[in-house]
Amino acid sequence: MRGTKIICTMGPATYDESIIKSLINAGMDVARLNLSHGTHDYHKEMYRKIRSVCKELGKDIAILFDLQGPKIRTGLLENHKPIELIRGEHITVTSEQVIGNNKIISTDYSLLPEEVKPGNRILLADGTLELKVIKAHPPKIECEIVRGGILGERKGMNLPEIPIKLPSLTEKDWDDLDFGISLGADYFALSFVRTPEDVIQVKKRLQDKNSTAKVVAKIERPEALQCIDRIIEVSDALLIARGDLAVETILEEIPLVQKRIIRKCNIAGIPVITATQMLESMTEHPIPTRAEMSDVANAVLDGTDAVMLSAETATGKNPISAVEVMDKIIRCIEKDQSYFECPFDEMCKSTSLKQDNKKFHSKIEDTAIASGKAVKQLVMTLSTKAIACFTYSGYSAMAISNSRPKVPIYALTPNENVARQCSLFWGVQAIKLPEVQSIEDMLLTVEKTLITKKLVKRGDMVIIVAGYPLSVACPTNLIKVHVI
Ligand code: PEP
Repeated sequence: MRGTKIICTMGPATYDESIIKSLINAGMDVARLNLSHGTHDYHKEMYRKIRSVCKELGKDIAILFDLQGPKIRTGLLENHKPIELIRGEHITVTSEQVIGNNKIISTDYSLLPEEVKPGNRILLADGTLELKVIKAHPPKIECEIVRGGILGERKGMNLPEIPIKLPSLTEKDWDDLDFGISLGADYFALSFVRTPEDVIQVKKRLQDKNSTAKVVAKIERPEALQCIDRIIEVSDALLIARGDLAVETILEEIPLVQKRIIRKCNIAGIPVITATQMLESMTEHPIPTRAEMSDVANAVLDGTDAVMLSAETATGKNPISAVEVMDKIIRCIEKDQSYFECPFDEMCKSTSLKQDNKKFHSKIEDTAIASGKAVKQLVMTLSTKAIACFTYSGYSAMAISNSRPKVPIYALTPNENVARQCSLFWGVQAIKLPEVQSIEDMLLTVEKTLITKKLVKRGDMVIIVAGYPLSVACPTNLIKVHVI
């Protein structure tokens, strides 16, 4: 069984039910719908197809709705054809919605011409192209092309030196949030989070609408790095959005920022996702570069809970192979003894991290942390085959997952939403079951379920974890070493 989970961004390359089935069989754990592109009808149909394939395969895959946030984009182009920007030449950027060409392009940030100053940088298409502001005469800005190349339609525009005066959640985001809630989204990812309040206001809306969806904060703005501890405190998970983060902050610091965020999330006990360009060359080629393979491997070794594919599965030529490659790399790393010795245990022993630990109001309560550690200790000491964790909210499964035990964690839950949400948790596989009423019932259920599914056999030792009393959601407080 693989511990680290795989998230696939869905798109034109994965729109067919047969492809969705192959993605799941190849190892997709969570499907990401990117609300930056496509209509509600498109996403609704994609959502329906994913749920239908999951039903057919008997799989619990979470669907994550990724809200665009205040992302600034360039406009449409003549004949929808990409244009070439040539270094040294000039180009006009306008807030008027014109059809662009190699002399003029539009931006959807209407305040830009008023806010730029001569010398400011305007980065386009994930920072691959760079313009320098010469002069602004609203609604137009005259720019020099500093780094040229090919620019397609509706590409991202980053303005690292300009404080953006856009709300963290735009009207479109609120609308997309309500749309996702109405469909039954399992997770919402918030783009360009700046403060913990951004996350809190979304949680409030979810609560008001009786949604049990969880909130993932995408870290891609320098402001978020300034208050990362407080964002971790209020979020259900974090996503290291390396694409925009690299453009908005300092490119060469990204590997260190990634390690720091993963470590902080591991300590706080929430899942963390590493994203963007992980197997980028596979959008065109059948095999990845050595550097990409190392990138995935290193994210796993850093302690990430999940790795994410973007264009590789949304628009790439080899979506299934990309998942297969990711699956192989993860399994190879997790097979190595060093993976389970480090980084988690070592990390918790280090003094500086102990101090870090104190700073956190951990997401996991003390009993759950202690239970997670105790379970791991039992797994290491006894020859245990599995952990069976009874969970109503997914919280106990998350706590056990956080301790990174070396055997599969089966989250037994009567709640379908929770079963799907567990698909993001490292090492957790959910099994849906009716509620159990007594300890005897619980033991019989574990035996029957795990044996029927051929997950264990007679004589195998399993660790059973639950909150007692069994029929209500309560913190993990019961651990039983059980021989089948
Ligand atoms: C990123 O910028 O790395 C990212 C994941 O965000 P998006 O794909 O939404 O631009």
